[in-house]
Amino acid sequence: MNDSPQHPSSKFGAAFTPQPAAAPAADAPEVLFYDVIVFGGGIAGLWLANVLKRAGYNTILIEKDTLGGGQTLASQGMIHGGQKYTLEGAVTQHASSIARMPERWEACLGGYGETDLTLVKYLSDSQIMWPAGSILSDLAVFGAAQLVNAATEKLKQADIPDALKEPGKKFKGAVYSMPEKVLDVRSLVAALAAPLKGRLFKGTPSEVLPDGQVAVDGVVMQAQMLVFTAGAGNEDVFKMLKIEKRLTQRRPLRQVMVRPLPQALYGHGIVGKPKPRLTVTAHPNGRDGYVWYLGGNIAEEGAKMTEDETLQFAKRELEAVFPHIDWADKQWATWAGDRAEPYDDTGQLPPGPFVQQRGRVMVAWPTKLTFAPALADRLFDKLQERKIEPVYKTEPPADKLAAADIGRYPWEGAAWRKI
Ligand SMILES: Cc1cc2nc3c(=O)[nH]c(=O)nc-3n(C[C@H](O)[C@H](O)[C@H](O)COP(=O)(O)OP(=O)(O)OC[C@H]3O[C@@H](n4cnc5c(N)ncnc54)[C@H](O)[C@@H]3O)c2cc1C
Repeated sequence: MNDSPQHPSSKFGAAFTPQPAAAPAADAPEVLFYDVIVFGGGIAGLWLANVLKRAGYNTILIEKDTLGGGQTLASQGMIHGGQKYTLEGAVTQHASSIARMPERWEACLGGYGETDLTLVKYLSDSQIMWPAGSILSDLAVFGAAQLVNAATEKLKQADIPDALKEPGKKFKGAVYSMPEKVLDVRSLVAALAAPLKGRLFKGTPSEVLPDGQVAVDGVVMQAQMLVFTAGAGNEDVFKMLKIEKRLTQRRPLRQVMVRPLPQALYGHGIVGKPKPRLTVTAHPNGRDGYVWYLGGNIAEEGAKMTEDETLQFAKRELEAVFPHIDWADKQWATWAGDRAEPYDDTGQLPPGPFVQQRGRVMVAWPTKLTFAPALADRLFDKLQERKIEPVYKTEPPADKLAAADIGRYPWEGAAWRKI
């Protein structure tokens, strides 16, 4: 059923103003009107669509592939509080704005926040920082811990994760624990998708106009605002809007996966360098321990190498950092992808969530999973500034577009091999 006010657009490209019903021209393609159409079903789009739905906006979300299947399910699921970024030597603007996010997530996970995330599982309620190299790195860990405001705590020997210790021996060096959760991201995607049931569709926009019109797999739609939270796909929107200026960047990464590991580990191994030597998260591997998913310097260096070279490099790094673990009998795989990020007006990576607007099209990046709530705030405020209110009652296009499914983790279906 489509009982919303109809705009008399005789063809794709007509000007748009929400207005009372008028009969469309006989030869006009059917145009479906919504308050907001969100493109991209990663964390940013899903979070925003929940906010809009709760506020009464008639919102649908269009995902090109699978929900979460871009960067979101490939992420390490760490809800950062700024600590990692203090390794760059100072409490940057980036770090201080990130620092406010964990308490907001905490409220949602606890069931007293803006979005009900009580069904989200978390893999760990803390992350550690440990010296993963020379004794100098011990100082680096200490220095980083001193710079942060959060309740960072030096772990007693007994509380240091077993994965760091040779059985029966003590770990040499200081290990700090940060009360920041590591989420099971797929359960997060599922929790955000559930309230949007019937509003999440699979489709690819082929034409986008600044007045809020869009063609998706032959279905013409129009909204008071189109919001693109399409990660790497945001580049395509600028092309469709014929904006030449370079507004996006991609930072390639090659994450390394290794299994099976008997113990879990969540944290950042630090050396004297500003970036972690490696960032480790652990994910249940059926009945056989864990898959370790490795980011940090391993993934950044790996992006410059072939897969074979990356795996050899990762193995050498792991042998150096965890000499007590036998790395010879493991299976290995990689996930290569980009962090899709914006450039701000000065050509820099902005310190937090970022929005570009052209007419009735907004293009947005959270820049971190952690920042999705802050991005949704910013987008919602922009709708309010433009006095965009819920108007349309159009039914979701379930008869025209297929429902979008939830995607897979990189380690599911990866090409595992011995090296
Ligand atoms: C390896 C890795 C590890 C990370 N670890 C962390 C971490 O631990 N903590 C943290 O806070 N952040 C982390 N990040 C960053 C975080 O994952 C991203 O900032 C965040 O997931 C971006 O979310 P998004 O919704 O904007 O983009 P995405 O998750 O990429 O979602 C965009 C979606 O848009 C879809 N799409 C693309 N083009 C179109 C189109 N034209 N129309 C419709 N849909 C389209 C894609 O299929 C995709 O599903 C990590 C990133 C990577 C790559």
